[in-house]
This record gives sequence, structure tokens and C-alpha cells, in this order.
Amino acid sequence: MNATAQNLRAWAEIDFEALRSNVHFVRTRVGAGVRIMASVKADAYGHGLPQIAATLMQAGVDMFGVANLAEALTIRHVGEGWHVLLLGAALPGERSEIVAHGLCPSLSSIEEALAFNSEAGRQKVRLPVHAVVDTGMGRLGFWHEDAAAALVEISRMPHLEWRGLYTHFASADDDADFTALQWERFQGLITCLGQQGLRPPLLHASNSAGLLRESRYHLDMVRPGVMIYGSSPLPEYQDCLIAPLSLKSRITFLKEVGPGRTLSYGHTFTAPHKMRVATVSIGYGDGFPRHLSGRAQVLVGGMRCPLLGRVTMDQILVDVSAIPAATPGDEVVLIGTQGGERITADELAGLAGTISYEIFTGITKRVPRLYRGATAA
Ligand SMILES: *Cc1c(COP(=O)(O)O)cnc(C)c1O
Repeated sequence: MNATAQNLRAWAEIDFEALRSNVHFVRTRVGAGVRIMASVKADAYGHGLPQIAATLMQAGVDMFGVANLAEALTIRHVGEGWHVLLLGAALPGERSEIVAHGLCPSLSSIEEALAFNSEAGRQKVRLPVHAVVDTGMGRLGFWHEDAAAALVEISRMPHLEWRGLYTHFASADDDADFTALQWERFQGLITCLGQQGLRPPLLHASNSAGLLRESRYHLDMVRPGVMIYGSSPLPEYQDCLIAPLSLKSRITFLKEVGPGRTLSYGHTFTAPHKMRVATVSIGYGDGFPRHLSGRAQVLVGGMRCPLLGRVTMDQILVDVSAIPAATPGDEVVLIGTQGGERITADELAGLAGTISYEIFTGITKRVPRLYRGATAA
């Protein structure tokens, strides 16, 4: 570990070995011939982009997918020469910098394609681009029915190198039929382009759920995100993955609470009997969701202990009546394992009415990330 957690009140530990193991699982799943584009948007799902990118560069991924220019430039700083695909639409003001850095934009309209073509011409370069097809996500892309003509046009633009064509599944985790429909729409377009002798080198469609669902969805490249961070959108694959991230905190104060005492904001909890209550130094200001109030459990002394009352900004209250040895300074696990017990981001997400993605990306800047396992050179 590159820092000590001794005096930290709330921190995340991130294990590079688990990350590598998850990439290895993706690789065995898709085979050697399919490229892997790791989705590292939103600070690598809250895990810390520079450190995660450095590790993934050595773990066998082929390229990176990011949300915006700033994230792409962070990857450029970590390692030169990697293909980086901007998954979000570029702002007009970002185009010259995208071209200057040779980053790969996602095109959803002829207007965008023309603008990048002329900017690349101005800078005397040939810019790699991917075109997006909207088969049912409704977020970005050319509508699948009328994409062909526009793509023919893009393929002829002199300063663009048409490297990829992709679509994005809206419900690959829970709707196999809609996913198959999107797939057929994408195939329809690919066939239509093929009849005109056109096929970009990289056809891709699958996020984590898509690549787990069907091998025909792998095409030339897959774009896993959340599964690299150890969370499987299809529960049957959860045991194939290891969670790299643990979220931890400490007991700062302990007290005995008699029956009838009320705890935390809104006094939503009243002690039914005598209990031992720990104050733990983590709250929604660290990304531990307030929606977990009165619902979640945390690990103390290797046992599950219930949260009492509302989550506050910086502190939570926990029933440690079952842990007589608990003492200030003791480690508390919010996500991760302790003793034989484990709490996953998916468990917290379920209780908070959200998804693991939001739990990961919600861990705030106040929480230092400590990395363990062999660091990338
Ligand atoms: C975020 C994203 C992914 C990765 O999705 P996961 O569900 O995290 O695997 C893939 N493709 C696109 C276009 C995305 O925006």
C-alpha cells in the first residue's frame, strides 16, 4: 500500500490484482481475436483514472473509452499512443484539441463529421473516427434506418479515417428481446453497408452486459466497464469477478444508549432497549448514500452490524451491541470483506434503490484511494 490508513477517517482500498483478474476474465470470455476497449469514464468509475489506466495498459486491454476530453488527456499523460475513444459527443469548442491530440471522436451527425473533417484538414492530419448508430438507446448516433447514406459520405471524407461503427444497448442487463432487436437493427445496417463494399475495421456493440449475454455480440471489439470493477450486470457471472474496491472507515466514538433514546436527524430511530452504539466517521459527504439510512449494515469485528437512524454528512451510527470488544479506531467496512462477511457495492445499490455504478462514482474526493498490489511500471 502506498499510504497508511492509520489516521484516515474514510478511505477506499483498490487492489490491482483484482482488476487484472477481471480483465483476464473478459479476455477468456471473448477470446484472443476480439479487442477490449476498457470503459474508464468518470475517473474509472470512481477508482482513480491514472492508476487504473496504467494498470489496464499492462493487463491486456487494447484501447480506452472515456466520457470527455479531460479524461482522454489524462490517459495521454499516463501512456502515449493509446487509442482513446470519446464516448460522449464533443463540444464544438473542443474539436481543435481533439484533433491536435489524435483522439477519436464519436460521430452522430454529418454536421459533426464535416466539422471534424475541416478541422483535421486545417491541422493537416487524418483523424480516426467512430460513427455511432442509434438502434434504441436514444442518446447519441445516427438513427439506424437512415444511417447508411451518411456513413457513405463519412467514408469519403478525405481528412477522416473511418475506423469504427458502433451501437449501444439500452437494456442488455435485463431485456434479452430488446437487446436482440437492437442487434438485428445494427446487423441490418452492416449488411446494407456491405452491399456497397463498406466495412470499417471495428464493429462493436457490447457493454459488460452485452458481452456476457451472447458471444455473437462480441463482433470486433467489446467495451466492458462495470465488470472490470468487479460488478456483474448479470448475477450468474458475479462469482467470476473480484471487486477491486473496498470502502472503509473507523469508529471514532462509542457509547451506551438506554431505551427510549432517539438517534440522529429526524429522530427516526428510538432505542428499544439498552444498546452499544458506535459513531463511525463516514457519511453522504464521502459518498455513503443517505438513502441507506436505517437500511444498510456495515462490518465491525467481522460481523454485520445495522445502521441506526439517518446517515449524516460525515458520520453514521451503528449498533455494535454484539461486539463488546469494539473500540475507537477500529476499522469498519462499508464495502468489502471482514472476517467471513462481505458487503458488495451491488448490495448497497439495491438497498439505496440505485446501481453499483452510482455507488462507485459517488465516492467523493474527500475519500483517499489507496492502491495495493503490484503497481504498473
Ligand atoms: C459506459 C459505456 C460502456 C460500458 O458500460 P458497462 O455497463 O459499464 O460495461 C460501454 N459503451 C458505452 C458507449 C458506454 O457509454
